[in-house]
Amino acid sequence: MRRNLVVGNWKMHGSREQVIQLLQGIEAGSAELSTGVEIGVCPPHIHIDLAAELLKSGSIKLGAQNVYSKPEGAFTGEISAAMLAEYGVVYVIVGHSERRAIFSETDRQVALKFQAAQTSKLIPILCVGESLEQRQNGLTDKIVLSQLNAVIEVAGVEALQRAVIAYEPLWAIGTGQTATPEQAQQVHQLLRGHLRQLDRELADVIRIIYGGSVKSANAKDLFSQADIDGGLIGGASLQAEEFISICKSADKE
Ligand code: PEP
Repeated sequence: MRRNLVVGNWKMHGSREQVIQLLQGIEAGSAELSTGVEIGVCPPHIHIDLAAELLKSGSIKLGAQNVYSKPEGAFTGEISAAMLAEYGVVYVIVGHSERRAIFSETDRQVALKFQAAQTSKLIPILCVGESLEQRQNGLTDKIVLSQLNAVIEVAGVEALQRAVIAYEPLWAIGTGQTATPEQAQQVHQLLRGHLRQLDRELADVIRIIYGGSVKSANAKDLFSQADIDGGLIGGASLQAEEFISICKSADKE
């Protein structure tokens, strides 16, 4: 059985004081969770060291929001996977739609980041998702499969054994307009079905989480879908109580 995973993506939010408050709140709330759900947080890079200090108990995994594809060199402003690993980072988001749209990251660059993360034993959370226009033009399946296939071409299907996929429709991110559980399930089922054709065992074990305006009010219905194994949470992960409430909805015990 797959263990649900809920990861908070804090984006570019939080002062040192806010990070301390938020992590103390999440840590306290996590005592009410069973081992049925795994939880993680992705602070901005500059707060990773502070977060690592505060999360010493290990019950909440540390993640990062981005990584560069090269191991080292003259890449001003970038951070390597090895640097993140040294600070106790376990998960790293690659291919978030904000990186693809605002920073023009291509499918191939995302695939190289995915590979670089795994070289340093980080677990990539690969984001895929379609825009509203693509959905309206019936292109959802084509887009998400091509984003997934770009990684398979570079890293090989077996690399997905050590990864998480996040389906995040762009029209649902930060808009308050969540995909219905049925809409999300349809895409999750498509992704898992595609992987099943390539590797049956992988399809059964890989976690495919949903992201896009998840909150405590809609989390349970989303997480109860057969192919949804938790969530990637943006805005709602910035409030400890709300985030823990979402985690509870994913708790299988
Ligand atoms: C995200 O940025 O990954 C996300 C899902 O954001 P939100 O929950 O705010 O829609």
